[in-house]
Amino acid sequence: MEIKFWNKQIEVIDRDSLRKLQLERFRKTVEMALKTTFYKKRLAEVQIKSIDDIRSLDDIKRIPFTTKNDLRDAYPYGLLSVNKENVVRLHTSSGTTGTPTVIYHTEEDIRNWTDLIARCICASGVNRGDVFQNMTTYGLFTGGLGFHYGAEKMGVLVIPASSGNTRRQLKLMKDFGTTVVHATPGYLLHIASQLGTYGIKRPELKLRKAFLGAEPYSEETRRKIEDLLEIEVYNSYGLSEMNGPGVAFECVYKNGMHLWEDSFLMEVIDPVTKEAYDDDSEGELVFTTLTRTATPLLRYRTRDLSRVYSDICPCGRTHKRIARIKGRSDDMLIINGVNVFPSQIEEVLMKNPQVGTNYLIEIDKEGVLDRVTVKTEINSKLFTGDISSLNRLEIAIKEQIRDTILVNPLIELHEPLSLPVSEGKAKRVIDNRPQI
Ligand code: ADP
Ligand code: ZN
Repeated sequence: MEIKFWNKQIEVIDRDSLRKLQLERFRKTVEMALKTTFYKKRLAEVQIKSIDDIRSLDDIKRIPFTTKNDLRDAYPYGLLSVNKENVVRLHTSSGTTGTPTVIYHTEEDIRNWTDLIARCICASGVNRGDVFQNMTTYGLFTGGLGFHYGAEKMGVLVIPASSGNTRRQLKLMKDFGTTVVHATPGYLLHIASQLGTYGIKRPELKLRKAFLGAEPYSEETRRKIEDLLEIEVYNSYGLSEMNGPGVAFECVYKNGMHLWEDSFLMEVIDPVTKEAYDDDSEGELVFTTLTRTATPLLRYRTRDLSRVYSDICPCGRTHKRIARIKGRSDDMLIINGVNVFPSQIEEVLMKNPQVGTNYLIEIDKEGVLDRVTVKTEINSKLFTGDISSLNRLEIAIKEQIRDTILVNPLIELHEPLSLPVSEGKAKRVIDNRPQI
């Protein structure tokens, strides 16, 4: 297997040198943070008043966590650490869980981010000569412009398609010989189901890879997309608070995502006790930016649940890997007292070859009990068959979900394209229960 690097020196750096680099950059980040009204106050409370108060990486433990609400409270300028004249761009989060947060970038920040994206793309084995169709939204969302500039820098031909308009996406793919796409998993599943509708035969496409991220998806969904489109899927993780995409990415071994530790200092904490783990326990990812100048963030709580793989990756990169994100801690549903992650239901559905490419979970209150309805599209062929095969499928899905989440769901089978399609982050859960 050919292993490609964008910046080999930094990607295979020995751990001791990495730690030294992290400390140097961490100190500089604290220095920048002290220039913001928010951190000046926050850090004074723990007696950090200058860069001299940071001597080792361990000093990070003295710093309080930063949350999404802190960013919302500091909106719009409370976390800006440079003069406005030096800011060249801002991005916001998608606002999945409330008011979006804002992050500012200097020219240097954009350069560093662009480099990280180029690093990710290279790690997947993409080359000059590849044609990259970026099917995520261009605008405030970071997946559009972030990937765009990184791919250009790497030297691939970029088609800035943005999201939506499936017919046009497929036409662009066919006409320009797209070899790589970037999309949300939900949208690529939809595209995969639409080839026939638009009269496209697989051999007419040159597609060979996809970068998928921005929302949780299971290994089963990866496999399903890989099978339907005959491509390789790479998992891409990021969040606007840490620039956007380019935080962690899979190399060709696809055994977890390399987290770029020269740019982000990672901790994994118990979301309840906030204790940091030093092993591979599953917990919440917490990041400190290491190179950002306009909006440095210290110990930012992502709410994303994952774990660290510390073993050596055959690709030679020394940056640790993180497991597929299970979901956000606030994605967890409590159904009749049982903790359930939507991703557990997705895994069961996508394992099933008769299940189609879209699904929805609805939760209602029925008396004192919660009722879960899983609506899933299934392959159109099944609707032309006899009713008993539909019944069998319904029972099988019901049992598999019950065995996984220990809650008895109602199952509704739907024809393809009958559930709402999302071009960006998919809304998979509709919780109709009264808020307490
Ligand atoms: P918002 O936080 O409002 O959704 P962002 O656009 O910044 O806005 O989205 C970042 C979030 O998207 C991450 O914190 C994470 O929850 C999710 N995410 C991004 N990439 C992945 C991925 N590969 N797998 C699972 N979740 C992901
Ligand atoms: Zn690797």
